[in-house]
Amino acid sequence: MTSSEIRQHFLDFFRSKNHLIVQSAPLVAKNDPTLMFNNSGMAQFKDFFLGNGTPPAKRVADTQKCLRVSGKHNDLEDVGFDTYHHTMFEMLGNWSFGDYFKKEAITWAWELLTDVYKLPKDRLYVSVFEGDTKDNVPFDQEAWDLWKPIVGEDRIILGNKKDNFWEMGDTGPCGPCSEIHVDLRPQSEVDLKSGKELVNADHPQVVEIWNLVFMQFNRKADGSLDPLPARHVDTGMGFERLCMAIQSKMSNYDTDVFTHTIKVIEELSGITYTGSQREYPDVAMRVIADHIRAVSFAIADGLVPSNARAGYVIRRILRRAVRYGYSYLGFTEPFLTKLVPTLAMQFADVFPELNAQRDFVATVIREEEAAFLRTLENGLKLLDKITGDLEKSGGKVIDGETVFELNDTFGFPVDLTALIAREKGFSIDESGFQKSLQLQKERSRKDASSATGDWTELHDIDGVEFLGYDQTEAEARIAKYRKVQNKQGTQYQIVLDRTPFYAESGGQIGDTGVLELQSGDKTTVIRIADTKKENDLIIHISNDKNLEELLDGHAPVLAKIDTARRIAIEDNHSATHLLHAALREVLGKHVGQKGSYVGPDALRFDFSHFTKVTDAELAKVEQIVNEKIRENIPLNERRNVPIDEARSLGAMALFGEKYGDFVRVITFDPNYSVELCGGTHVPATGQIGLFKFTSEGSVSTGIRRIEAVTAEKALSLLNEQQATLDQLKELLKAPKDVLKAVQSLIDERQQLQKKIDALESEKLQQVKTGLLTKVQASNGHSVLVERVEVPSADALKQLAYDLKAKVDNLALVLGSDINGKPQLAVMLPEALIKDKNLHAGNLVKELAKEIRGGGGGQPFFATAGGTDASGLDRALEKGRELLLQ
Ligand code: ATP
Ligand code: MG
Repeated sequence: MTSSEIRQHFLDFFRSKNHLIVQSAPLVAKNDPTLMFNNSGMAQFKDFFLGNGTPPAKRVADTQKCLRVSGKHNDLEDVGFDTYHHTMFEMLGNWSFGDYFKKEAITWAWELLTDVYKLPKDRLYVSVFEGDTKDNVPFDQEAWDLWKPIVGEDRIILGNKKDNFWEMGDTGPCGPCSEIHVDLRPQSEVDLKSGKELVNADHPQVVEIWNLVFMQFNRKADGSLDPLPARHVDTGMGFERLCMAIQSKMSNYDTDVFTHTIKVIEELSGITYTGSQREYPDVAMRVIADHIRAVSFAIADGLVPSNARAGYVIRRILRRAVRYGYSYLGFTEPFLTKLVPTLAMQFADVFPELNAQRDFVATVIREEEAAFLRTLENGLKLLDKITGDLEKSGGKVIDGETVFELNDTFGFPVDLTALIAREKGFSIDESGFQKSLQLQKERSRKDASSATGDWTELHDIDGVEFLGYDQTEAEARIAKYRKVQNKQGTQYQIVLDRTPFYAESGGQIGDTGVLELQSGDKTTVIRIADTKKENDLIIHISNDKNLEELLDGHAPVLAKIDTARRIAIEDNHSATHLLHAALREVLGKHVGQKGSYVGPDALRFDFSHFTKVTDAELAKVEQIVNEKIRENIPLNERRNVPIDEARSLGAMALFGEKYGDFVRVITFDPNYSVELCGGTHVPATGQIGLFKFTSEGSVSTGIRRIEAVTAEKALSLLNEQQATLDQLKELLKAPKDVLKAVQSLIDERQQLQKKIDALESEKLQQVKTGLLTKVQASNGHSVLVERVEVPSADALKQLAYDLKAKVDNLALVLGSDINGKPQLAVMLPEALIKDKNLHAGNLVKELAKEIRGGGGGQPFFATAGGTDASGLDRALEKGRELLLQ
C-alpha cells in the first residue's frame, strides 16, 4: 500500500462512519497566544473543546500538518538520530465533539488497524490510564473493559499520568488516554523478548502509533478538576509511523514518504544512503529529508525565515540542515532548494499550497542557504583564530561565552562548534555555554512574562456574535472577564455575548471605543483600548483601573466603537484590496500577499516579488488604484460562501489563512478584485477618496513592502508637499516656472564659483610675486618668513611648493589666518636637514605652541593648524629667529 493510499483509506474509513472530512490548518498557529505552531490535530479545534463556537459537525476527521520544534513538544534533537520522530509530520485524527465516546473510538481504531490495514493483531499493544491518587483521577476502568475483549488482558499496559493523561495546558480540558503501540521487530527477536517489555522504552521498532484521548474533565487555575458537561474524543495517529508499520519497514525513512527525497540527496551528494543508525552521512540525510519538509511547508504557509519568533525557529531548522549537508555530505553550495520540486510534486494532491508556490519557496530557501553558507565560513575562520590563540597560550577549552557568541552572532550550532573543536584537539565549555544561553533565555522570559487570571464567568455563552459588519454600536451582556498582568501593567479582558468591535486579525487592527453601563440614570464608561482575538473569542481590552465591581454588576452594556477611526481603517483595508489587484495587473500573477497592516493612519502591504518595483511601475499601480476609487465600485460582500464556490469565483486563496468550510468573499468588481477576507470595508470605493504611496522597499528575500496612505491622510500628505512648494516659490520671489528658477540658481552658482576660483588663483599669483621680493640670504641659504592671505590650507601648501620651485635652498615659514583658524607651513632645504639636523615636523610643532595647536610632516615640509590666531605673529617671529640664527 502506498502512503497516499494509506492516507486515503483513513479518511474514507471515517467518512463511512459519518465523519466530516476537513482540511489541515496551516502549520503556523493563528490567533492562539499559547501556540506558535500547530503541534497536534486538535489544535485547530481547541475552541470547540472549550465551548467557544460550534464545530462544523459533531464528527470530524482529517490529516493535520504538525510541527514539534518548540514549547511543550520539541522533538528536534531526536530527529535524524532516531528513525521515528520528525519535526514536521502528518497527524491523522478523528474527533467527536460531545458525540460518541470511548466505545466507538476504541472499536473503530481496532477495526481500521486490523481489518483495513491488516496489521497483525499479535503485534499490537494498548495502554490504559492507571489512575493518580494525588490528582484525584481514577483508573480508566471503562477503557480497560472495552479493550479487554478485543486485545486480551495480557496486551494491555497500565500507564501513568505522564504517558496516559492528556492536558491541553495548565488549565482547560483534559482526560485519560489510550495509546496503541506496534512491534515491528523481526520474528527472531520477538521470540527472545516480548514486545510488551519494550513499549515506551524508546525502542525504534516498538513505537506508539496512535493516541486516543478521552476528554472528560476541565482543569481550573487552582488545579482542581471538574467533569466536562460534554465529553469529547480526540485521536492522533502518526502517519509516517503508520506507513512504516503497514509497509513493513524498520524506519520511517524507508517508507515512500521519504525515499523520493533521499534519492535526490544521494544524487546530489554522490553518497549512498545505507540506513545505518549512527554513521553521520546517514544521520545527515535523514535530518535533511526531514527538515526540508518542515521548512518548505512553513514557508508555503506564509512564514519567512527571520530573527524573531516563529521565523527564527524556521531559520534554525534550515541552518541545522545546511550544516549537516556541509559537514557530512560535502555541500558547499545551496542544495536544499533543489529538493523542493520533488516534495511539491509528492504532496500536490493533499497539500497543494506547496506546489502552488514552488518557485517562491525554492527562492527563499536558496537565499537563506547562501547567506548561512557565508556565515558558516566566517564562523569557521573565527574558530580557527580562537583555536590558534589557545594553542599559543596552551589552553585546551573554548570558553562558553565564545561558543555562545558563535552561536548567537554567526548562527553557529553548538554541536558544530564542538565537533570542529574536537577535530583540532580542543573541547568546549558546554556548561559555560548553557549558562550564557540560560542568561539570555531569562532575559527574554522577563520581557514576555505575564500573569493571566481565571475567567470570572457572568453569563454562559455559546460563542461571540460579531455584529461589526453591520453595526457600530450594540446592546450586549458581559459574558466573562479576567485580569491580566503584563509589562504594560494591569489590563481587563472583557468578553461580550455580542459585539460590534472588530478584533485584530488579517492585518486589520482592533477597534477602540467604549462600553457604557447604565445604572439608574447614571452612565459609567469603560474605555476599550484594543480588541484582540483568542481562538474565536473576541476580547475587549481595557486599561481602566478597578473594574471588578462594575463588571460584576451584571448590567447590560452599550458597546460603541470609535466610528471615525473605524472609517479610516476601512478606507485603508479596501485600498489594500485594490492595491493587491493592481500589483498583480502591473507586476504579474506571481504577486501574492505575504502580510499586511491596516490601521487608521496608514496601510502596509507585503507581497512576493523579486526585484525592486520601479518608479514607473509604482506610478502605474497608483494610477490604477485611484481610477478604481473614482469608479466608486460598490462593495459586494458575501458571507458563508462554501470554500469551493469561493475558489471558483476566482477568490485569491490566501494560503496560510485558517478558514472553516465557509468563508467570506469581498468583491470590488468581479473582474477586478475578489478576496477571501474577514475584515471590514467601505460601502463603495469612492469613500477612499485618494490613494498615495509613501514608500517601497524590501522586507526579506523575495518579499517587497509598500506603504501608503488614503483619504484625509493622503490629502494632508499632498497639502504638506504643496506648502513646501509654496514656501519655495515665495523664497524665489514667485517665478512663473519654479523648476526653471531653481535650475538657473544652480547654473548661476556654478559660474560664480568658477569666477571665484579664477580670482583666487590670480591673487595667489600676486602674493607669490610679492613674497619673492622678501627673500633674505643667510648662511648660504634663502630665508622667507611671512604672514600671507590665502583662502585655504591647501592653497598655503601649494604656495609653499611654488616658492620652493622658484628659490634655491629655501628655508620658509608661512602663516595665515584662514577664517579665524591659524595655519602654519614650514619648508627646509636639504642642507639644513643634513648639516644642522633640522626637521620641518619638529619645527612646526614648536611654532604651533604659539597658536595653541599641533601638526607634523616630513623632514623637508610640514604643516600645523591651531586655535588661537592671535599667536600667529609670535609664531612667525620665533620661526624667523630660528632660521636666521
Ligand atoms: P512519542 O512519545 O513517540 O514522542 P507522543 O506521546 O509525543 O509520541 P502524541 O502527542 O500522543 O505523541 O501524538 C500522537 C501521535 O503522533 C503519536 O502516537 C505518534 O504516532 C505521532 N507522533 C508524535 N510525535 C511525533 C513526531 N515527532 N514525529 C512523528 N510522529 C509523531
Ligand atoms: Mg513526543
